[in-house]
Amino acid sequence: MKQFKSESKKLMDMMINSIYTHKEIFLRELISNASDAIDKLYFKSLTDNSVGTKAEDFEIRIDIDKENRILKITDNGCGMTEEELDKNLGTIAKSGSFNFKQENEKTENVDIIGQFGVGFYSAFMVSDNVTVESRAFGSDKAFCWKSKGAEGYSVSECDKQSVGTVVTLHIKDNAEDENYDEFLDQYRISALVKKYSDYIRHPIKMEFTTKEPVDTADGKTPEYKDVTELRTLNSMVPLWKKAKTELSDEDYNNFYKEKFYDFNDPARVVHYKTEGQATYNALLYIPKKPPFDYYTKEFEKGLQLYCKGVLIMDKCADLLPDYFSFVKGLVDSEDLSLNISREMLQHDGQLKLIAKTLEKKIKGELEKMLSADRDLYEEFFKAFGIQLKFGIYNDYGAHKDILKDLLIFRSSLDKKYVTLKEYTERMGERDTIYYACGETDEKIEMLPQTDAVKEKGYEILYLTENVDEFALMMLGEYNGKKFMNICDDKLDLDTEDEKKALESENEAAKDMFTLMKESVGDKINAVRFTNKLKKHPVCLTSEGGISLEMEKTLNSMPTVADNKVKAQLVLEINAAHPIAEKLKNLYKDDTETLKKYAKLLYGEACLIGGTNLDDPVEHSNLVCELMTK
Ligand code: ADP
Repeated sequence: MKQFKSESKKLMDMMINSIYTHKEIFLRELISNASDAIDKLYFKSLTDNSVGTKAEDFEIRIDIDKENRILKITDNGCGMTEEELDKNLGTIAKSGSFNFKQENEKTENVDIIGQFGVGFYSAFMVSDNVTVESRAFGSDKAFCWKSKGAEGYSVSECDKQSVGTVVTLHIKDNAEDENYDEFLDQYRISALVKKYSDYIRHPIKMEFTTKEPVDTADGKTPEYKDVTELRTLNSMVPLWKKAKTELSDEDYNNFYKEKFYDFNDPARVVHYKTEGQATYNALLYIPKKPPFDYYTKEFEKGLQLYCKGVLIMDKCADLLPDYFSFVKGLVDSEDLSLNISREMLQHDGQLKLIAKTLEKKIKGELEKMLSADRDLYEEFFKAFGIQLKFGIYNDYGAHKDILKDLLIFRSSLDKKYVTLKEYTERMGERDTIYYACGETDEKIEMLPQTDAVKEKGYEILYLTENVDEFALMMLGEYNGKKFMNICDDKLDLDTEDEKKALESENEAAKDMFTLMKESVGDKINAVRFTNKLKKHPVCLTSEGGISLEMEKTLNSMPTVADNKVKAQLVLEINAAHPIAEKLKNLYKDDTETLKKYAKLLYGEACLIGGTNLDDPVEHSNLVCELMTK
């Protein structure tokens, strides 16, 4: 007897002991596996004559033996080798089951089970003895996997002539408040197939027994005989080929959750069919939340690609641009050739055409969501907005026009999200869109410059993600309005007179500033007075394109580790603050103290702006010196 791997054991325990009400989903899971296995062999048969099974002979069979409490699911798909039985059924390999485990550990919510595929193990919700006999295509031996549950399983050679798999379940006895007999009832099984597996493209057949009246000798006493016929239980039309009107939200959502392993309903569903240049059906889903691996390099984007109903690729990356990589779904094309190779597919003009129209559809759907269901869009944007912003920044801005109207930022007006269009519509004649960067909204509001800009009545976009400013820089402008970081030294809110007065003040203090700059050293380019601070004594602004936030982000990237980027900083001093007078006096009487004050003020500006001090010890010593004076 072999032991299950530890995660599998946990899941198995949960399945066996589940008080879950949707035990019925085990059938859907086993049928899906059977259908996948047939797909694999069918696909092979297109290019390999040795497969032998004809297209019309592929089928899934269900057999009920009420007396012995046996339910059997048989397929003539690809089958499994001895190793595959061990690997596939002894561990949880697939992300779906794995996801489930993770989520479940967090929430202890067993109700999750019914919402999506938990795979083969769900058989143990209804069965106390499971046998899988399988013969892989190309193998001359068959093997049998057996398990009674958590203790483990065994694999041994067995006799099976045809390629494929038979899963035999011994259905549990009824318990006090659990009825398992229903899974031995032909009507119930047939209803379950209709409910969950109707779209499976291979026939699911079952022998159906009905009673038919027979003519009796006297023509009065009714007599019946059992008539058995083999019925196909499913309609075999894939969900995406059905008309929209035939499908409910629930149909779409269930299909999504089961097929794409999500616990949540999708934010949006796009289902359409095109004819003409490219003939295809598409069923696209925009998720609400990113999958757990979305922001890792393990994540693979792509849509399932079907060709005339046959799955030819599970994740066709070429169908989705990176900035829409969160979209899940499938495309079923009439035009592609079935045995097209991956390499050829990349250069296929038809595929490119499809990708182009998909992109338009996705964009259109996002715009619709943005205008019709703002709350939902915000939820979506919190999950995937970063991806859109990277989309603007990447490829030297080649896609910025597609994406710019999908961006939203919180702003100083009411901390609600605003689009660039909304911002520019309410900004009036001004030609500048103001933004500020910081870790959080709160930190941005503490920036010295924020007050001054707000006081002028100007709205500020709050940029709290590293990529934000890079995306805006790549945009360059929006509807002719340029972007400006409020921490840029060019921020200019003064009237002409105010400017003149400030200029002459700066001119008069020129030598003092030179002395101060020398004291602080290379960390800054200049010192000067400013009018743009209200309460604060000092701030740091940047000259020439690279802001402090950008400096931080760029230098945190490994590639520039030994080639640090430097923002060109100016130490600006509030001309109306008492400190200005103090400095002027020190310049006259005590330049040594002035030099120390310059360093102190630089330190203050760093702290307020949220950057680290290069030399915190020196700063602290200077503060103490001042305190003990
Ligand atoms: P999932 O279907 O999500 O991958 P399962 O636990 O249901 O997870 O199945 C694990 C694996 O076992 C499948 O991925 C497949 O490779 C294999 N498998 C299960 N059932 C069959 C079958 N009827 N025929 C061939 N292979 C199967």
